[in-house]
Amino acid sequence: MQKSTTQKIIRYTILVSILLLTVILGRLHSYIKLFPAIDAFCPFGGLESLFTVIRYDAFLKRIALSSMILFGAVVLTALLFRRSFCGNICPLGFLQEISARIGMKILGKRFYLPSRLDRIMRFIKFLVLVVVLGGTWLTLSLIFRPMDPWAAFHHIGSEELFSSYFIGFIILIASLIGSFFLDRVFCKYVCPMGAFLAPVSKIGLYSIKNDREKCTSCGKCDSVCSMNVSISDSEVIKSGECISCMECFAVCPEAALSVTPLKSRDRKLKPSLLIFFTLLIFVVVIGITTVTKQFVWKAPTGLPPRTERLLWGPQRLKGDNTFEDVVTIFRINPAFIMQEWEISEEDFTLPLSELQKDPDSVQEFIEELYEEAGLDPRKIYAGGACGGH
Ligand code: SF4
Ligand code: SF4
Repeated sequence: MQKSTTQKIIRYTILVSILLLTVILGRLHSYIKLFPAIDAFCPFGGLESLFTVIRYDAFLKRIALSSMILFGAVVLTALLFRRSFCGNICPLGFLQEISARIGMKILGKRFYLPSRLDRIMRFIKFLVLVVVLGGTWLTLSLIFRPMDPWAAFHHIGSEELFSSYFIGFIILIASLIGSFFLDRVFCKYVCPMGAFLAPVSKIGLYSIKNDREKCTSCGKCDSVCSMNVSISDSEVIKSGECISCMECFAVCPEAALSVTPLKSRDRKLKPSLLIFFTLLIFVVVIGITTVTKQFVWKAPTGLPPRTERLLWGPQRLKGDNTFEDVVTIFRINPAFIMQEWEISEEDFTLPLSELQKDPDSVQEFIEELYEEAGLDPRKIYAGGACGGH
């Protein structure tokens, strides 16, 4: 009991932390464009961009090397611990799990589709994978993006939700409502990442074994499995649907389940360690590539530091800033600036201090313009446009 509590604490701490981290990153991007869009932190983007990287040595728009790095970490995890990414890292899977838990609490039971229908529906995700990858590679654009529930989740509260991500939002709501009754509906039937990982996980080094001598076939493990994997009547869990969540371990009264390397029965890995090592793979991969500056936490702007500093808003103009910075960051019409500040075109590249213009006054001028235009002053730092530029 003590062991299963520790295992759950580790798992939920990881899942909650990752969900919070992604929400923070998504929110930061909506206010400060120096933070990359959430796509840059999506491992599926790495898979979508694989073709263009191999063929053209370039990423798809919005995808960065960090997506590819995360994709590599997901594959590495799958080769060791099967779909442990789905069970212990993916925040979209976790959102569905939360909905399912609430459903269980309220309804007192989990629902299942008839097994024949369930088997047929599980193929949908493979179809989605083929269509998404085929379409993306043919059009060289992220065709799944408007339908992506995860992208929609990060645009809740933004104007783009109903214009650009409406289908994704509908899928998100349907997944959460569906999971309330059926648990992880999107994972089981639709997710292209899950479809990719299912066959890869089959060659995973570690798998779950059920000791037939200990197992009493009580079915408790089956009843908690969010992916409806049949555990009680198997000796080895070979299903590509198992997400290594280790929930079945926590309820087994006979301690009949174990995680072992495929070819060994003696060397066992504690379920809590499998969860911890999954996180460790991501921490190490992201840590190393952050140090080597390959993992991008900041979108490249190509701007000089004095200009880029303004994007980390709210930062005020300083004497070393120029009117060119004002045009670049605040998108104010240069003609309007020339007229208001009585400067020539050549003066745009000179520091405000050299032009003897007070940076605070220029700042107030910009903020007044934004207010007059009825624009959210916070959007100043997110690249809002003003003055007809
Ligand atoms: S199947 Fe998809 S949504 Fe579900 S946990 Fe895996 S990657 Fe996340
Ligand atoms: S078989 Fe066990 S580890 Fe795999 S998904 Fe089901 S409950 Fe989780």
